[in-house]
Amino acid sequence: MGADIAPGVPADLPPVVERHGQVVAAGDQRATLADFRPDRIGQLVASAALPDRMSGSEVLSIAPGDGGLMTAHIRYSGVDGERIVLRSRWIRLPQGWRVSDVRNVPDTPPVLAPVELDGLDAPHWAAAREGELRIQRCGGCGEWIWAPRPICPACHGFDLDWPVVAPEGRIFSWTRTWQPFAPEVRGHLPYVVVLVELPAAGGRRVLGVLRDADGADIRIGLPVRGDFDPPASPAAVPLLRWRIS
Ligand SMILES: [Zn+2]
Repeated sequence: MGADIAPGVPADLPPVVERHGQVVAAGDQRATLADFRPDRIGQLVASAALPDRMSGSEVLSIAPGDGGLMTAHIRYSGVDGERIVLRSRWIRLPQGWRVSDVRNVPDTPPVLAPVELDGLDAPHWAAAREGELRIQRCGGCGEWIWAPRPICPACHGFDLDWPVVAPEGRIFSWTRTWQPFAPEVRGHLPYVVVLVELPAAGGRRVLGVLRDADGADIRIGLPVRGDFDPPASPAAVPLLRWRIS
């Protein structure tokens, strides 16, 4: 079956994408690197997760995408039967077509490292397993506290509790991560981390990951709503993921 080539795709691109899939599947690193944008080689090498040993590639589709880039989906097969789809976006430079960014599809969230439930924040993580957002609050003066503390910073009381807080807030700040700074995030790049201000918790701010962030128009102040993703493994913790609401 041939690739699905959309109208508007320049005729000289499909052969380049086809050959790219073949050199990647063959483990030809030199030829693969030559297809990358020179200024993004480091990022591209480490972005996507592929089977260690591959048996082939198949170009599924090529279509015009955002920002004048051409979007290609290539399916790679591992010798063990594993099948992985990568989305690459292509730009025409003076020296020819080059890969500008690449990611695994579907868009899966990065994995949170296991958390030891023995610290001050244990009630927060225990609640996350139940799909609830709980933030520390002083039972004496009502001060919201985040990150957790052993004593209220406002009244020095020890009567601290953990009310449920609606996972609704506004983006206080955000950043898009292209580099795999930890091994667990490989295959989940790029992803967007948001710092969300919670009006229901005195304006305290929590970190989380934004859903559907590719191509999203992200701005400070946008309202967001969060859900907990199930943990990737029994040892991992659920991940609070936010969506622009
Ligand atoms: Zn207090």
